[in-house]
Amino acid sequence: MHFHGTIWRPPYEADALLLQATAGCTHHACKFCTLYEDLPFRFRMSPLEEIEADLGEAQLWGTDPMVLLSARLQGLPRPEGPRRVFLVGANPFVLQAKRLEDIAKLIRRYLPTVETIGCFARVTDVGLKSDEDLRRLRSLGYDGLTVGVETGDDEALAFMNKGYKARDIVEQAGRLDGAGISYTFFYLAGISGAGRGAEGALRTAEVFNQTQPKRIGSSMLTVFPSSKLYQEIQAGNWREESELEKLGELKVLIESLNIPTRFETDGASNLVRVRGNLPEDRERLAGYLENLIAGADEEALRAYRVNLRHL
Ligand code: SF4
Repeated sequence: MHFHGTIWRPPYEADALLLQATAGCTHHACKFCTLYEDLPFRFRMSPLEEIEADLGEAQLWGTDPMVLLSARLQGLPRPEGPRRVFLVGANPFVLQAKRLEDIAKLIRRYLPTVETIGCFARVTDVGLKSDEDLRRLRSLGYDGLTVGVETGDDEALAFMNKGYKARDIVEQAGRLDGAGISYTFFYLAGISGAGRGAEGALRTAEVFNQTQPKRIGSSMLTVFPSSKLYQEIQAGNWREESELEKLGELKVLIESLNIPTRFETDGASNLVRVRGNLPEDRERLAGYLENLIAGADEEALRAYRVNLRHL
């Protein structure tokens, strides 16, 4: 398989076949981001021949005599082909609809068991597609996009150079809904900066409450020295939220969301694991965070953050 650099995928895509369609990020400008800094280029589109070669390799999973023998010897059922493909890269959904269509057709040809195709997408990637494009992509299997919106706080979006505004999130999410493409939002606690965590959460809830994400996956901001944000902090232009403020921000967000959705903190950046369905688990999750905040020690929490070497 062809893979460039560190491969990032959401925790809930663990069962999907990872297929490289792009590498790196077309935006490459968010101040806090260091995710694709190990690549010698900003963005690369995989040639179709490369994708086809990877699919040919993946196809062997269900037919390789050694795999079949191993399953039989272990008393396991005959391995089935993958049901889902996750296209890797920061934003494969930026590709032209025709290119995504060609990739979907290749996937279908080599792996007929695949039912859906997911990937990371930027809000602006959705904006590049017509409604007809989106409907066609849905009919070809694209579903369950992960959109790293981070926040609905316009001040934070602008400072961090995300390249869109809160109103764009609502607009493009509505277009995905219209096409029947489900999506998960990534939220980034801490992005609003010291003293603004609760406000950022409230503004985000206002935005998210106008959308229909099937899941909100929340991470916590970790500032790495190689980021532009680190330089901003050094220059005195921005201050980090304390870890306790981030936890409080999370609580405000959970309390303010009034849409039915799954809420999960997953990944190494999170100090705590919070998982549940909203609205029914709202009180349980908020209560858990409240107790945690009451008994937590900022220094100990901070020690976790500063010792985190990699996300
Ligand atoms: S869009 Fe995502 S991957 Fe690209 S720079 Fe921003 S946070 Fe990083």
